[in-house]
Amino acid sequence: MFLQTYNQVTVIVDLVSTSPLIVKESRYGQDQKLAWSNGNELKKQGMPDVIPISQSTDMELKAAVSHGTPKEALKQLKYYLPGTSIRGAFRSHLERVLRGLEPEVPRVCDPFEESEFQDHHSCSDLLDHREGAFISYAASCPVCRMFGNNKLQSRITITDGVIQGKLPYNLVQREHIRIDRKSGKVNGPVLKFFGLDQTTFRMTLKLVNFELIHLKILGVLLGDLKSQNITLGFGKSKGYGVVKGEIHPLRLSYTGLDHPEGKLRGVASHANEATASWFQKRYGLGPETPVDLPGVTWKRGDMRLETEIPEKMFLEAVMPKIAFPWRSQPKLSERKLAGAL
Ligand SMILES: [Zn+2]
Repeated sequence: MFLQTYNQVTVIVDLVSTSPLIVKESRYGQDQKLAWSNGNELKKQGMPDVIPISQSTDMELKAAVSHGTPKEALKQLKYYLPGTSIRGAFRSHLERVLRGLEPEVPRVCDPFEESEFQDHHSCSDLLDHREGAFISYAASCPVCRMFGNNKLQSRITITDGVIQGKLPYNLVQREHIRIDRKSGKVNGPVLKFFGLDQTTFRMTLKLVNFELIHLKILGVLLGDLKSQNITLGFGKSKGYGVVKGEIHPLRLSYTGLDHPEGKLRGVASHANEATASWFQKRYGLGPETPVDLPGVTWKRGDMRLETEIPEKMFLEAVMPKIAFPWRSQPKLSERKLAGAL
């Protein structure tokens, strides 16, 4: 955990699948299909090929896929959307959006790129090999600053998506054929994919110790979820995994002795000047300008001050006021020197 928290924003998002959604169940594949059909070809043909991940036991899983009418039995499994899958999809979506802003000036790493000769060399690999003492935060790209890397803790947590609604779930079946590329003929039996359609998964996203630019990036993410610009899970090229985000009010809270004075403040724009410069030094940041936040009611706790910002107000009134100094974010080529101590 962080040694201290200053600010925190929490938002509940309902992800509603508008096309079948499949985060693959890794406990079930062709090997299990073969073993669990006990050599009965007819039974094997009736069994699914791909199903969504669930929290059901191995026994329940086996019983459902080997059932005489698997489609009905499969609707009873305890499906969910793993937080790690949501997180991965959000991260790579934001990476693509931000890299596209100024493609000729790389500022966002590719977390899987381990070659130092590539433009998008991952922060993790670069920082693992960097010598001397340095501030990991200052030497990391903007997306790593939010989602973390080998040298930096993530500021974002995302829970699993929990299905809202009762059993049986809305599991739909789609069939696909494999075409042999050479002959152009159908190759092998029809594949049966099962996905969760028109299903609502509720998850919570929390961002702590944010800079204001992170709220801007979070707003882009929420806006793209609303407009169904983000897909999740398996089979995206086949049209699976389109989700629509329904955003609940954002809960904003500040810890400390100093009132944020009706403003939206990041770590570098703390209400107390001495604390603001302490955070700037700690993270290797420049100052930032707080944003007016009129029309919200603050609730005072013992050591914390909290308020709620409705989604519409955040996206339409607050977002345009948050500065986006993208060109002053460090370039990836500057990471080797950034934040040296
Ligand atoms: Zn990075």
